[in-house]
Order: sequence, then C-alpha cells, then structure tokens
Amino acid sequence: MRHWTVLMLAMGIAWQANGQAKLSVKWEELTAEDFKAAISKSQGTCLLPFGILEKHGPHLPLGTDLLNVRYVAEHAAQQEYAVIFPQYFAGQIFEAKHQPGTIAYSAELQLRLLQETTDEMARNGCKKVVIVNGHGGNEHLLPYFAQAQLDKPHDYVVYVQWGHEATKKVGGPKLEPDWHAGDSETSNTLATHPNLVHMDRAKNESGADQKRVHLPDSVYTGIWWYARFPNHYSGDGSTATKEQGEADLESWINTVVRAIKAIKADDQSLKLQNEFYQQSEHPLATAQ
Ligand SMILES: [Zn+2]
Repeated sequence: MRHWTVLMLAMGIAWQANGQAKLSVKWEELTAEDFKAAISKSQGTCLLPFGILEKHGPHLPLGTDLLNVRYVAEHAAQQEYAVIFPQYFAGQIFEAKHQPGTIAYSAELQLRLLQETTDEMARNGCKKVVIVNGHGGNEHLLPYFAQAQLDKPHDYVVYVQWGHEATKKVGGPKLEPDWHAGDSETSNTLATHPNLVHMDRAKNESGADQKRVHLPDSVYTGIWWYARFPNHYSGDGSTATKEQGEADLESWINTVVRAIKAIKADDQSLKLQNEFYQQSEHPLATAQ
C-alpha cells in the first residue's frame, strides 16, 4: 500500500513538472480547453489527412488510403506537434463508381465541403491548414483547390502535402506499374493494419495494365484509368512484405515531419497572400 502511495506521488510530480498531461494530436480527443492549448502548441498548424473509400484490389480494405494516411499523419504529428482533423474521405473517385463500397460525392460538393472544412478549421485557429493527401485520384483536385484560395481573401493558408522520397525496394522485381493495391500499398497496409490484409486473395484478380485505349501521352481522357485497370487494381499485392511497408512508411513519415517544420517556419505565404488580395482589388493600381 505504502509503495503504491509513493508511486502515485512520484507520478503526480512528473505530471506537474510537465505542466500538463500530454495533449492528443487528434482534434476529436481534445477537450475544448485542451483544444486551445493544442492550437497554441501547434502554432496554428493543423493536418487534414485526406483518404477515400474505394475498392483496393481483391485483398485490401475500402479505407486503405484513409487508414494509411492517418497512420502517417499521427506518427508525424507525434514528432512535430500538429492538430489532426478527423476522418475525411470526400475526394475525387468517379473512376471507381462501378465497384462496391465507393463513395463518390459530386464535384461541386467535394469543393464546397473542402472549402467549408478548411474555413471552419481556420475559424478555430488553424491558420496553416496542411492537406496531407493519401489518395492518387486527388492529384488534380487538391492543387486546383489550393489555387482557388486566391479567388477571394482568406485569413489562412492551405498547403497541400503529397508524396515522399523514393523508398529502397526490398526483395525481388515487382509488377509495374504499381499504382493501386499493388506491392507498395499492400506492403504499407501490412505494416499499419496487418489484420485487414487478405494476402491469400491478392491473386484473385489481375492488376496488370490492360492497355485498352491507345492515345498519345499528350492526350488526357477521364476513362483512362478504367481502360487500363478495370478491377481497380494496379500492380501485384502478392509480392508485398511488411519490411517493405515499414521502409516506405518511415520515409513517408519523415517527409511529413519535414513539411510540418517548414510550414511552421513559413511566415511569407500569408503575408504575400494578403498583399495579393489587396492588389487584386485594384489591378490598375499595380505597378507596371
Ligand atoms: Zn490506395
């Protein structure tokens, strides 16, 4: 009993020396009072990990992108504190509407919801909103959204973080292209959520490029993905390893940590945005 009391006292002292209990990085886990402290600790830097709900081959969960990007954001924010917005998956995924479980909101709603979400984040002190993208289909949506912030004044900056340094390939040759539910994404999920990966089903469908449309690289058409990967599978998940996933996640997490540090240090973007908004009110007054 005495032992226990001493232990409790020691813990109390540690708690007091720290000033406060450790703040969660997750928006939904903070109390209102702790949220204020979290925004201050993060210097107004908040992450919006962006996933999607779509088929991931025959062997990975529908929420693969969401699960993996949140895993990365949470590990990065533990190293470089930032507040993480809850689950977000209202992205561009029209090309998977023929597959079960896809949630594909209209283009108008995608943009409106994202704008109102970042506006609400900013109203709550997130003056640096970092969209951490985990879904390939957002490759045009997110830069467009960030660019559209110049349309009218905002008191915050939207940053889009996407991609990371190449990771050393572990093991033998892989089926290329490896763009969706193939070796890399399956490896990552083996490292983040091993019990959601059904390795025994990875060969149930083909992730090979079916090359059904022949157009020059300079021509874009929306059906290109369906033409090449109708099973919503690109690559071969059966060659995946946890070791490969751990290597990839380490590089992804490090990249996000570096991005958060650089964004915290960035005092130019908001200043220049404000200057730009003012000048765009009166373009004829802009010096030529
Ligand atoms: Zn994915």
